Amino acid sequence: MKYTSLSNFIKGTYGYSNGEYLDVFSPLNGEVISQVPLSSAAVVDEAVTGAMQAFPAWSELPIKERVQVFYRYRNLLEKYFEELAALISEENGKTLDESRAEVSVSIEMVEFATSLPQLCIGEIEEVSRGVECRSTRYPIGVVASITPFNFPNMVPNWTIPNAITLGNTMILKPSEQVPLSSNRITELLTEAGLPEGVLNIVHGGREAVEAICDHPGIDAVSFVGSTKVAKIVYQRAAASFKRALCLGGAKNHLIVLPDANEEMTASNVAASMAGCAGQRCMAASAMVAVGEVDSIIDRLCEEAKKIIPGKNLGAIISTQAKERIEGYITEAVAEGARILVDGRNIRVKGSEGGYYIGPTIIDQVTPDMKIAKEEVFGPVLAIMRVSTVDEALQIENSSVYGNAASVFTQSGSLANYVAERVSAGMIGVNIGVPVPREPFSFGGWNESKFGSGDITGKSSIEFWTKLKKTTTKWNPEARTNWMS
Ligand code: NAD
Repeated sequence: MKYTSLSNFIKGTYGYSNGEYLDVFSPLNGEVISQVPLSSAAVVDEAVTGAMQAFPAWSELPIKERVQVFYRYRNLLEKYFEELAALISEENGKTLDESRAEVSVSIEMVEFATSLPQLCIGEIEEVSRGVECRSTRYPIGVVASITPFNFPNMVPNWTIPNAITLGNTMILKPSEQVPLSSNRITELLTEAGLPEGVLNIVHGGREAVEAICDHPGIDAVSFVGSTKVAKIVYQRAAASFKRALCLGGAKNHLIVLPDANEEMTASNVAASMAGCAGQRCMAASAMVAVGEVDSIIDRLCEEAKKIIPGKNLGAIISTQAKERIEGYITEAVAEGARILVDGRNIRVKGSEGGYYIGPTIIDQVTPDMKIAKEEVFGPVLAIMRVSTVDEALQIENSSVYGNAASVFTQSGSLANYVAERVSAGMIGVNIGVPVPREPFSFGGWNESKFGSGDITGKSSIEFWTKLKKTTTKWNPEARTNWMS
């Protein structure tokens, strides 16, 4: 085992395990690299106590003092950039370039948080003669962040910098499949001067998540993961009257029109379906081909064949996930779909134990097939053929998800027509992965997100704070007393 068993991080100390552990595998070679604690409700309780104890002192600091930690943390992310990227690749399986891109986005997230003192100033107005009303933002209290496997460094950095800069103290429950990056984040934040108890890490799975949802000391829960679990967490957190924002899975449609630029479309669609081995909630999963676009599809297949597992294509997170993805492909073919590029039965020389699937493109998929409707979460693109833009929109609109959608065309009016009618929160025009960069916020629609507002950007300020409205009258000559 390359790394020793991990510990929870509570009240500034590594420890607090209840003695149960799970092996952590590297998807690159299938080897056990560490062990992660499977924490019980008692451990969650310990972390909540730590976060509650830290809250008064941390929340009373002026925001301009709190944010200093994140200026230093940002520089540490840069200082340890290569090491952090290598750790992501090791535990998640993505390529080193993809891991570097992930750390770069984390840095951008922290940079956004450092602008919060400028962004979240309150408002003041004379609402009646001699009477002024002022609004001020306050932290909510102890908050929790539950994160998925696919971005071990970035998703924790979606929530930690904003929530903590805004004065909250936090319990992070990382994915048990990729727990190493989170512990490294706590080391860097400690080096940056974050006081003990402000960020606590509780490792584990379902039991820890349920204890977080139920704990009366936690005031808000954010979740990023599958729709199935997002629904459970949203309902369970709300049952004990917590604020909750739960981001779920996706089935992103790329609508390709006949006038689309061939080269730009093919390269974008290929990168979108296969980047991070398709394990992105923003990945292209379904392509809706409108009319005669065969030359674009031919070019797309050529592009896909340049994406080589173990070289510029990373691994799948686990053997179970690999089997699930291959099952979708096999079932679609059995149902009559036509496979254009087949990524099954891949062996990567020198990484024989790794969990790899090559890029896979399946044509003649019909909207009723499982592969057309469900989230596959692998480097697999299902192509559906339609004759009109409205038919394409009908397919996109019928999805239960609504994270992202893209349109490829050279026509501004058609792009607008589609962008206005797709039912998704993040839209791309000639862009396959339309992730809004900061300060625009990240969040989908429909069953891709439960709760109001988005998880990053300016929209997240609302989620991580509560508003106090103070009405003041000092001068007795102001006679207005409109409420009496
Ligand atoms: P997951 O739902 O399996 O796990 C997410 C978290 O929930 C983990 O911390 C896990 O320990 C916990 N968990 C798992 N099962 C649970 C249960 N039954 N009860 C309580 N907690 C449970 O998701 P994953 O496989 O880690 O991540 C992939 C999923 O995340 C995909 O569906 C992807 O689309 C989604 N995702 C969404 C976004 C977004 O912004 N919408 C971003 C990244 C990933």
